[in-house]
Amino acid sequence: MFNIGVLALQGDVDAHIDILELLGARVCKITKLSDLHGLDGIVIPGGESTTFSMLLESSGLFEPIKKIVSDGIPTLGTCAGLILLSTKVLDGRSDQKSFGLLNAVVKRNGFGRQISSFVDKIELQDSNNGEEATYINEEYQTVKVTGAFIRAPKIVSVGPGVQVLGTILQKEIVYVREKNIFATSFHPEITRNTFIHEKFLDAAKKG
Ligand code: GLN
Repeated sequence: MFNIGVLALQGDVDAHIDILELLGARVCKITKLSDLHGLDGIVIPGGESTTFSMLLESSGLFEPIKKIVSDGIPTLGTCAGLILLSTKVLDGRSDQKSFGLLNAVVKRNGFGRQISSFVDKIELQDSNNGEEATYINEEYQTVKVTGAFIRAPKIVSVGPGVQVLGTILQKEIVYVREKNIFATSFHPEITRNTFIHEKFLDAAKKG
């Protein structure tokens, strides 16, 4: 059994937990320091990066989480989670902090405001026309991997060492990996395909 912690200070926590449990992980919510013990992977969900930044500081979790991610724990950051992981944030609030561990420049709300939210097919690199076997409704089916973009950050550029794993519109980078860190500018947990979580869990299982 492998243990995954989902940062649960705010944001879209429960949908991540549902998918991770469906895929066989034991999941706990991270709200305090002691929740970080014995984890094989962590998820930083979408929500509001400025609020996360504040709550990470007040809960004393900012530095400890930064340390375990930089030490190599498999990590999945989605949407605000991507913002928190990135080295440079454009259009951030001046007091907003990020861990700065993913070599990427991201622009907050780069895909527009809430009203411009959309769902799109993710063009996965090195895959069969973006169709992947994924675990849905208790069986594997070949489906298109989709993501929901909600006040989503735009990945403006990535630095050396960052692999582009997925795009939309054949040019916008929306899914990346740098060593132990996976990040998406979209919410994969809302559209209920499990591909993104499976890739993260594969890394967590390998340790
Ligand atoms: N725009 C939000 C932020 O800056 C992120 C939105 C989301 O996570 N869906 O944190």
